[in-house]
Amino acid sequence: MAEVEAVSIKPRLLREDGTRLDGRRLDELRPVKIKVGVLKNANGSALVEYGGTKVLAAVFGPREALPRHIALPDRATLRVRYHMAPFSTSERKSPAPSRREIELSKVIREALESVVFSEQFPRTSIDIFIEVLQADGGTRTAGLTAASVALADAGIPMKDLVIGVAVGKIEGNLVLDISELEDEYGEADLPLGIAPNIGEIVLLQLNGVLTPEELKAGIELAWKGVDSIYKIAKEALYAKYIKAFEEVK
Ligand code: ADP
Repeated sequence: MAEVEAVSIKPRLLREDGTRLDGRRLDELRPVKIKVGVLKNANGSALVEYGGTKVLAAVFGPREALPRHIALPDRATLRVRYHMAPFSTSERKSPAPSRREIELSKVIREALESVVFSEQFPRTSIDIFIEVLQADGGTRTAGLTAASVALADAGIPMKDLVIGVAVGKIEGNLVLDISELEDEYGEADLPLGIAPNIGEIVLLQLNGVLTPEELKAGIELAWKGVDSIYKIAKEALYAKYIKAFEEVK
């Protein structure tokens, strides 16, 4: 009998007219939605959607750091848990923390440490829970945006918001805000966390290969997306606080 070789079929990610499979232009974000203050038991919270990716963030603190040995004498301890709900992926994901979730918790924490004025709250902890409700690519970047908006909602002083977005490379083209399919079959994935007002990149990862020119162009493309998402985040924060202000008037 003839041997059958297993071949993986890579789908085309761009249509004849140059648009992406979901109809977007190369430099177009998915529809972004941000809602602030969605949980009553958290000090701050936010629900962020980048297309089909839906992420909830909850912030508690600054509060007494427990267990005591985690307390720092000169600043608050930031703790981040990034977690994917078992129902968030097409195949059930184990609820136990994976290596990937531990890594993402760490890089998101480091990104947020760059903007939080943690020295204002020595010996306390600020606990940030990021729960991915539905995963369709870019969960770490949507999670980072959700966490920074939830920190702002909790009234924690920060130098700036951090907005996350991922740029990818598909069929030789740089594209903004990649979906799961584009992440899976694309040539590269460049998730970025940017604090746009202070002009800093606080998270940068690269999966795949980009030339130095592509990296530079990718960062510029991400920056444009970040500016649009930042406006939506600011409006969502205003919407909550202007409403609260009008209610007491
Ligand atoms: P990100 O979500 O930040 O892009 P990855 O590049 O690791 O992070 O993952 C890309 C996408 O792959 C996720 O958004 C999700 O849609 C999918 N994915 C990740 N982990 C799992 C998993 N354990 N099971 C199924 N799908 C997953």
